[in-house]
Amino acid sequence: MVVRGILKGLARSPTQGRSGDKALLSPTGSASVRHSSANSDMLARQAVLDEFEQAGFSWLWSTDSEGRLSYISPGAMAKAPALVGKLLTSVIETDPENPDERSGRPLTFQISAHCRISDLVVRFTGAAGNDLRWWALSGQPYMLPDGTFAGYRGFARDVTSEYRRKREDSRAAAFDSLTGLFNRHRMTGRLDAVLAAFRPTGQCCGLMMMDLDRFKHVNDTMGHPAGDELLRQVADRLRTVVGDRGEIGRMGGDEFQIIMPNFDDRGQMGELAAKLIQMVSQPYAIDGKRAVIGASLGIAVAPHDGDTREALVASADLALYAAKNGGRGQFRFFSSELQDEAMERSVLNHDLREALVREELELHYQPVVRIDDNMVVGFEALMRWNHSERGAISPSVFIPIAEESNLIVPLGDWALRQACTDAAKWPQSVRLGVNISSVQFANPSFVATVADALEQSGLEPQRLELELTENVFMRDTELVDEAFAALKGLGVRLALDDFGSGYSSLRYLQSAPFDTLKVDRSFVATCAADDQNSAKIISAIIGLADALGMETTVEGVEAFDQLEVVRDRGAKQVQGHIFANAIPVVEVNRHMESGALKIEPNGPSRHRIERRAVFRRVGIIHDDHRYEAVMRDLSRVGARIDGLLGVPVGTNLVVDLGGGQLAVSVVTRSQGPVIGVEFETPLTSDGAGGLCTRHRLSPMMLAVANAASEAAPKGRQQFMEVAVRGSRDHG
Ligand code: C2E
Ligand code: CA
Ligand code: CA
Repeated sequence: MVVRGILKGLARSPTQGRSGDKALLSPTGSASVRHSSANSDMLARQAVLDEFEQAGFSWLWSTDSEGRLSYISPGAMAKAPALVGKLLTSVIETDPENPDERSGRPLTFQISAHCRISDLVVRFTGAAGNDLRWWALSGQPYMLPDGTFAGYRGFARDVTSEYRRKREDSRAAAFDSLTGLFNRHRMTGRLDAVLAAFRPTGQCCGLMMMDLDRFKHVNDTMGHPAGDELLRQVADRLRTVVGDRGEIGRMGGDEFQIIMPNFDDRGQMGELAAKLIQMVSQPYAIDGKRAVIGASLGIAVAPHDGDTREALVASADLALYAAKNGGRGQFRFFSSELQDEAMERSVLNHDLREALVREELELHYQPVVRIDDNMVVGFEALMRWNHSERGAISPSVFIPIAEESNLIVPLGDWALRQACTDAAKWPQSVRLGVNISSVQFANPSFVATVADALEQSGLEPQRLELELTENVFMRDTELVDEAFAALKGLGVRLALDDFGSGYSSLRYLQSAPFDTLKVDRSFVATCAADDQNSAKIISAIIGLADALGMETTVEGVEAFDQLEVVRDRGAKQVQGHIFANAIPVVEVNRHMESGALKIEPNGPSRHRIERRAVFRRVGIIHDDHRYEAVMRDLSRVGARIDGLLGVPVGTNLVVDLGGGQLAVSVVTRSQGPVIGVEFETPLTSDGAGGLCTRHRLSPMMLAVANAASEAAPKGRQQFMEVAVRGSRDHG
């Protein structure tokens, strides 16, 4: 029996040589007494091994020095003997998806290095057909007395059913069952592993966080199964766009993450992000119905924006937050300014809590004017915050902060009650508009608050107009309908604010009982310029409102040319600086007392589109010398820089835009202290209307470079630095 060959090896002690083998092999016990006791030992062992083989728990195997199978227990599988002579590595392979992640060295390497193998799970590939078997293989090398490798001896057992289960479990642990993408657990592990592997070499890794806009709306209005189907389709689109450039996971809900190892080109990442948003925003067909969603995306790159998982994820989250706040449907790169903004927000949120108590909040009122006769038909209440240290803070800054912390509910309640009380003293003909945040609207006690504010102030309900935005529809339709019905029951008016700026779904107009449409001021801003589309959109919205029996108010009219355009386009009511800004209540009351309810328009004849001057301090590096200068203009391909005198055209410079962003440039124009430079590599979009370099110097390199420049003698100064004053210097 071949078993004996195996037995031989396993039983041999290191001191026993070849001669001992012969003795051991002797079947008849013709040797000495010492030998005969060894012999009976040996027979006993053989019996045990035979039993062992026959029991079928495990089987035995051995190879020769070249790795060819020299023995395999007949019970291992049908036709086991046919395997003898084959290379072990040709009939087994390790599992590429090994859940133990003990991927380590490849099997062929382990065997050729004569490593000990212990309980290694391998797939038996020598079987015919689809009979997939998994073996747990153990074995150790055995040596000839002179130390040369003679082969492997070992045992193995069939672990197919338990290993299959384990694989399924680990798939379940690694994959999101809904979309088949990786799950949060797996993505967390992967990001840790990639960052750990890249840290020593400073390799880059991009991380994208994506969040769907309006997903909740689809879920609420079309049902959860439709929401699930939508997520599956989103996952398919992500896979198609990303391909093998990254690993995609669903982190839960409608949040996705993409890890992109070895990505540091922000140009490419921005293009990919834009493509992802574009693809996800295409309509979906679900159960024969159409659904439209959007996506926002935040991007951070290790090691620049964080070199641990926690730091990198926090950076990407912050960028995502900024992308969403920037109007959704956008991507945004992380930058250190975002971090400052986040700090700022949390400080303001804290201060805002105190503001109500300290009476730092006030309501101002902006007139709404009928343009036939310039009569004031109403006022819109606008909140003002006089911060004790910072002065006036715009509601477009603090309202979103209050919405995030739900502070908007007490704030909005206060505004509503205060405005009703103020307006109750005004003439009957004057209406009151009050802005209602969607967060406030969603509060279950909102309708009761409105009823109470009316009762306490004595204001007639038909004089109160609640200004809502489309965001109120991002909720369970039934609840929204109920609230609308209850408000109409109270007799108040409803206005749809900022119409045209969001999704502007006509379904909202059809389903909700609005009395007024407020045309978003972005159309007015451009309607008098060459942009004929804005003017056409204004007519279309007014026409639509007329057809539905609604009033319209056009917001943001500042100049006479705009007033002409909106009048031509059928506007009846206008709100804007051309008539008045928002004014404190005492001023409103003064006008009321003097009976002056008529306002003559007053403003510039033509609207000028405001150009914000770029003013940004930059470093200019030339010949190891660093100059400070001011950047006046920035485009993808070049910049205009102020502050260096006598720089010849053709000079090579490096413009330091901050945060490791170095742009290699050449001077193309030079006039006095102003130079024009062209970048060697064009800049790329930062996702927020700004520009950034594609690559950055890593924090490590930056530290090294700084240390070096501190230590080294300063380079020769060749150009004269001249002081530049910017708009900010003037305050
Ligand atoms: P909104 O409801 O669209 O209010 C109109 C905004 O346009 C006001 O900005 C107003 O000052 C400004 N505006 C009026 N005429 C002109 C013009 O001719 N040109 C330009 N460029 N702007 C004009 P404001 O007061 O800064 O408020 C910003 C936003 O903050 C409001 O936009 C509203 O969404 C929110 N908000 C203000 N007060 C409240 C409030 O009490 N509650 C809630 N929930 N939101 C409020
Ligand atoms: Ca408003
Ligand atoms: Ca508005």
